[in-house]
Amino acid sequence: MNNVFMNTYHRLPVTFARGEGSWLFDTAGRKYLDFSSGIAVNCLGHSYPPLVKAISEQAAKLNHVCNYYQSDVSAAFAEKLVEACAKGGMRKVFLANSGAEANEGACKIARKYSLKKYGEGRHTIVTLRGSFHGRTITTLAATGQDKFHKDFGPFTGGFAYIRGGDIEALDRALDKTKTAGLLLEAVQGESGIIPQSGEFIETAARLCAERDILLMFDEVQCGMGRTGNFLAFEGYTAGGSPVKADIVTLAKGMCGGLPAGAVLTGEKTGEVFESGDHGSTFGGNPLAAAAGLVVLDTVNNPAFLAGIERKGEKIMDAIRGWKHPLVMEVRGRGLMTGVDIAVDAWPLLEKGIALAGGNGPGILLLSAGPKTLRLLPPYTVSDGEIEEGLDMLKGLLDG
Ligand SMILES: *Cc1c(COP(=O)(O)O)cnc(C)c1O
Repeated sequence: MNNVFMNTYHRLPVTFARGEGSWLFDTAGRKYLDFSSGIAVNCLGHSYPPLVKAISEQAAKLNHVCNYYQSDVSAAFAEKLVEACAKGGMRKVFLANSGAEANEGACKIARKYSLKKYGEGRHTIVTLRGSFHGRTITTLAATGQDKFHKDFGPFTGGFAYIRGGDIEALDRALDKTKTAGLLLEAVQGESGIIPQSGEFIETAARLCAERDILLMFDEVQCGMGRTGNFLAFEGYTAGGSPVKADIVTLAKGMCGGLPAGAVLTGEKTGEVFESGDHGSTFGGNPLAAAAGLVVLDTVNNPAFLAGIERKGEKIMDAIRGWKHPLVMEVRGRGLMTGVDIAVDAWPLLEKGIALAGGNGPGILLLSAGPKTLRLLPPYTVSDGEIEEGLDMLKGLLDG
């Protein structure tokens, strides 16, 4: 590995040169079935022809304009993105470049909304234990895992953490004299693919509405169709009707592999940011927007979303069906699967890479916690590829 990189990542010993569909090829030409999608980014697989075409054509036309001006492709993307999130209550969007940046924007909106309406002191943002919201000083503070709260202090104040599923703690934390917002992942990604219970989300939605506390979903990993719903929280109801959010953040899969993020706002929150309150040089970049249009056109379609759900069920049913002695539990929604295993996950990731060689392909897996495998195949994965990947995974577990 090139040693000019800072030592931030624990990398596996493989260097990729190209990708095609669900497959990646390393610099020696060995192939690997990609059950990671670059951590939920390459949602349409690699080199998806309509995506390549859109990016290439846009690259030849216009790569960037600063936000003094407008771009037709960015405007078209923003409109379609808001439309895709309208069912969840969204009306407006701010385009950014990453998940952390999107969550920063969400926290700023929540703080200002509460300050303008209720005055100072009502600024707490409640998040969940095991959550992951990003790597900036503020989004690390938002992340409800103590292991992230070291070395970089002082962290941004005003965050409080509760356990997902703990209704009493939720009721206490959503104190209308102190709390501006609740930020949560409907399905937690980094900490092991943990879907929140229907009762917890329903209670959160009800209490937030009653107390005018903003309900904010971090859909950076679980959004953009990953769970089989366009937004993961659309899979939940409150009082018999679909849950509506006040703020939603997106990133990872949003533009199919190009860097992008978004904060979306609903009826209450759309006018909170005023001119000069927020900005981002690259936000709404035309190249990312052109890619994002292809993702939206492909993914925001009931038949396509139903396919994601079906493929996810197929994966979970198959793994449960093995009754493998090392498999403790299988959880997930759509193509977002967590497999708790009795052994460390990382060595299996290494073995998945080492499979690639003379005779056959390797497989790219992710972990989410020390003993949980995380499977995030591209939405375009075929049934045959799922079966091939599962055979490889079973082989790895068998030793
Ligand atoms: C990855 C992730 C983030 C951070 O996104 P970056 O683009 O790495 O800043 C935030 N929230 C969730 C749920 C994520 O999975």
